[in-house]
Amino acid sequence: MQISLEFFPPKTESAQASLAETAKTLARIQPQYVSVTYGAGGSTREGTLATVAQMQALFPQVAPHVSCIGASEDDMASLLTDYQSRGIRRLVALRGDLPSGYGQGGAFSHAKDLVHFIRQRFGDAFEIEVAAYPEVHPQARSAQDDLRHFVEKVRAGANGAITQYFFNTDAYFRFVDDAYQQGIEVPITPGIMPITNYNQLARFSDACGAEIPRWIRQRLASFGDDAASIRAFGQDVVTDLVDQLVTAGVPGLHFYTMNRAEPTLAIVEALGIRGALPA
Ligand code: FAD
Repeated sequence: MQISLEFFPPKTESAQASLAETAKTLARIQPQYVSVTYGAGGSTREGTLATVAQMQALFPQVAPHVSCIGASEDDMASLLTDYQSRGIRRLVALRGDLPSGYGQGGAFSHAKDLVHFIRQRFGDAFEIEVAAYPEVHPQARSAQDDLRHFVEKVRAGANGAITQYFFNTDAYFRFVDDAYQQGIEVPITPGIMPITNYNQLARFSDACGAEIPRWIRQRLASFGDDAASIRAFGQDVVTDLVDQLVTAGVPGLHFYTMNRAEPTLAIVEALGIRGALPA
């Protein structure tokens, strides 16, 4: 099974040390690659570069996320040239969201423009993953519009897509069917969010448009401050979800690790899944 793991650049030295431990523990899953997120508007550029370097010492393939909103073509070309010289061969190409206070500007309006730019300037130097939204991107005018934009983004030169997390497999299968009907052939890998903290999950989900089904919300809310019960229930629910996806033959699994080893490890080990290192 092709597994990828996502990390974010830690903000403090102690968080960086703890990420090193997390990464070492998760290395035994043998992910095909790990990815490192990028703050919108370049706000974690240095942090992303440092975390990418840290991960390159542990994993055979590291894919930095690159968000283009607010960037000029020169900024982008210099970032990508830097990555290329560091041996990076895979990217997660995104539009990103502007933090409040940033002006619009920049050379890129959508992730499709970034994918096009990378192919034009760097040819096939990078494998490109893009984002997909089975439950529809929150700013999309309609589900059909969003699907059309996704198809255009892939056709601009993406090799694969990673979805926003979801807890409803029907949304994922329907999205994949619809995309394949439009002639898309690249793998659409489900993004998996382990559940460990209800308040944080509810906040993220509201912001990114991922739906927490009512029954899961109700159960999680009923545990109050009982963190152990939230984790145990969350692990059950997400292990079940991953089991259904693997049984249905998904092309891979992308875990939003939140820089913690146990929640991802518990799911992978409960299902006896092994990763496949890059060829
Ligand atoms: P796009 O594909 O550009 O889509 C954004 C919106 O614009 C959609 O509503 C789409 O329908 C619409 N659209 C697209 N093309 C057009 C067009 N031609 N005309 C009109 N509308 C159009 N954010 C970060 O800041 N850093 C990260 O590291 C990061 N990692 C992520 C990883 C994954 C796997 C995912 C799923 C998301 C990630 N995000 C990250 C969040 C992402 O940046 C936001 O969801 C952002 O709002 C959209 O990015 P996108 O690349 O999907 O944008």
